[in-house]
Amino acid sequence: MLFDIRQETLPREDLEALQLRRLRDLCGRIHANVPFYRKRFEEAGISPASINSLADLRLLPFTEKQDLRDYYPFGLFAVPRDHIVRLHASSGTTGKAVVVGYTARDLDHWAEVMARSMAAAGVNHADVVHVAYGYGLFTGGLGAHYGAERVGATVVPASGGATRRQAHLLRDFGATVLCATPSYALHLWEAARETGVDFATLPLRVGIFGAEPWSEGMRRDIEEKMGITAINIYGLSEIMGPGVASECAEARQGMHLWEDHFLPEIIDPVTGEQLPPGEVGELVLTTLTKEGIPLLRYRTRDLTSLDYTPCRCGRTHVRIGRIQGRSDDMLIIRGVNVFPQQIEGILMESEGLSPNYQIIVDRVDNLDTLEVHVEMDENLFADEIRKLQMLEKRLQKNIKEFLGVTARVRLAEPRSIERSEGKARRIVDKRPRD
Ligand code: AMP
Ligand code: ZN
Repeated sequence: MLFDIRQETLPREDLEALQLRRLRDLCGRIHANVPFYRKRFEEAGISPASINSLADLRLLPFTEKQDLRDYYPFGLFAVPRDHIVRLHASSGTTGKAVVVGYTARDLDHWAEVMARSMAAAGVNHADVVHVAYGYGLFTGGLGAHYGAERVGATVVPASGGATRRQAHLLRDFGATVLCATPSYALHLWEAARETGVDFATLPLRVGIFGAEPWSEGMRRDIEEKMGITAINIYGLSEIMGPGVASECAEARQGMHLWEDHFLPEIIDPVTGEQLPPGEVGELVLTTLTKEGIPLLRYRTRDLTSLDYTPCRCGRTHVRIGRIQGRSDDMLIIRGVNVFPQQIEGILMESEGLSPNYQIIVDRVDNLDTLEVHVEMDENLFADEIRKLQMLEKRLQKNIKEFLGVTARVRLAEPRSIERSEGKARRIVDKRPRD
């Protein structure tokens, strides 16, 4: 189902003409209203008038997370504070929070792209949408909320936490759609079992999951356990929140990125050069319509690729591949680069393991050590010790073979790894910072 047939199927030529018009307008606005950008333009020896085609994008300066931190809280806003009707903030794991502000029009656009994402997942006005993303400064809850309302669905603003109660609400209100981080969705499923709510008897049919990395293996696990179709949704607070890109139920091969609002590029994270479609690199996004805090060539740190080939759903907007990791989540273990998701992928190939895992990195005698703790399900847990030891060995061998690092794998008892109400904490890095 398309929410806005005209925009979502705009021929590429028209889409690019629209992008160029909006890009030029954006450059004019930020040059006039944000001293930070005016200075950047001057340093690069360009003016808004230098932008005459989309290819000229590469002349423009990048924006980084650190810039938002340096200008904390409102220094990059492009409108007076009294035009801002909402603030959100992303705490992140390191450093100062990043603050974003929305005008009324920004909120309208956000609801629009989120509604497109919901509709692409197959959600319509007849659905009951249970939102278990956190409500608050985090963009997840309110983002999903207004999108679902725009579609005309019945929204249950559950937020995160009180997980057993949520399981009862799912059943009592007859939720057909669940929005959550994939790790919290699994936590909810476990809590439901404990409190006697059987997912198989619920009308739930779609899950819209994102805000953290997850693998195809985890998708399969969730779909099997919950008996639903799991959809991948992407977004980040700096750019808007959830709904920047989302999968269509028809193909589920990449997430359509709403190109009339966000202009994507993939760059080599080291050289900053643009990479051609299909190649994996860092996603860079320019907000084409944002008024509160427009960002030029924002370096997301998320690694993915672009696919411009036609999608069978008929939407013309480019698709981004599953996020393969964040360049700042990359672990360097004795010189070898490893992403948590690669480890997750290997774990999820084995029967009996749950996607609850933690990666513990430490340094012993000046050498990095890598330990992977992964939970077993009850069946596997009941197995003979000897078999479990063999499985640990096999996983260690696979990690060595596929990723080139030595890891110690420890199978953990069911429910022994800490659950999160939002994004899961996958990495515990105990190495001293030097
Ligand atoms: P936040 O600033 O809290 O909105 O978090 C945004 C970040 O969450 C993104 O930059 C990604 O690293 C991550 N993220 C969001 N959606 C997904 C997704 N579907 N898959 C993987 N990572 C995601
Ligand atoms: Zn599609």
